[in-house]
Amino acid sequence: THYQQVLADSSRQMSAAEPGDLRPVLDELMAETEEALAANNTFSAQLTEAGQVITALKTELRSQTSLARIDELTRLYNRRHFNFEAPQLMTKCEAEGQPVSIITFDLDYFKKINDTWGHNFGDKVLVVCAEIIRKAARVTDLAIRMGGEEFLLVCANLDLGEAFKVAERVRATIAETDITIRGQSLPVTVSAGVAQYAHGEDLLALLERADKALYRAKKEGRNTVRTTDSELAAQ
Ligand code: GH3
Ligand code: MG
Ligand code: MG
Repeated sequence: THYQQVLADSSRQMSAAEPGDLRPVLDELMAETEEALAANNTFSAQLTEAGQVITALKTELRSQTSLARIDELTRLYNRRHFNFEAPQLMTKCEAEGQPVSIITFDLDYFKKINDTWGHNFGDKVLVVCAEIIRKAARVTDLAIRMGGEEFLLVCANLDLGEAFKVAERVRATIAETDITIRGQSLPVTVSAGVAQYAHGEDLLALLERADKALYRAKKEGRNTVRTTDSELAAQ
């Protein structure tokens, strides 16, 4: 803005001046031009630096965004990730004419494990179980720690019966895994509820159906898998 003003002033002075009087106007103009060039260079360097800062911040933001979707203790995805990804997964499977099923897992009598052996040991049990659930998930599935001692597997391209088998395998693996503390082997078990996504169903309604099945598994003795969907529920 300052340089624009200088140009306008110089132009006015030059049109009014006699040819012999042009020298001082030109000298002033040269000095101002050099200053403007220097300011331009500084500005350009600042722009380059700002560009580098923006690139670094973008990288940091990407990494923080992905960290915000991971559970710190178990390194499984968290509920936030589920909220972002599950609707897309449902839509994709639906578009491809494929089924999707979900399994909710809840450790049995986990409060007692904490109360008896301490919170740190409880955390270790959570990590062991999370690892078993992670291994049961294929790359297209979502393995989530929903909170506390509750986990969720979203099984792409699996119908109710197939997902039921996955749930049963996880249940058996956890029950058979030897978790010891102070030389004593602990009976850690999990209950699970399975539900198959119904066309156009609200995600919360689907979770609710799986939770209802889980509740049945708890009521009917724990360390077991249940579904509320009719055909398998009858078995
Ligand atoms: P149920 O068989 O009916 O599921 O009984 P439960 O004891 O497993 O269920 P409840 O909901 O009564 O207790 C869950 C416990 O999980 C209570 C809480 O202190 C514990 N918990 C939640 N988050 C964590 C965690 O991050 N680490 C540890 N160690 N414990 C946790
Ligand atoms: Mg629970
Ligand atoms: Mg529990």
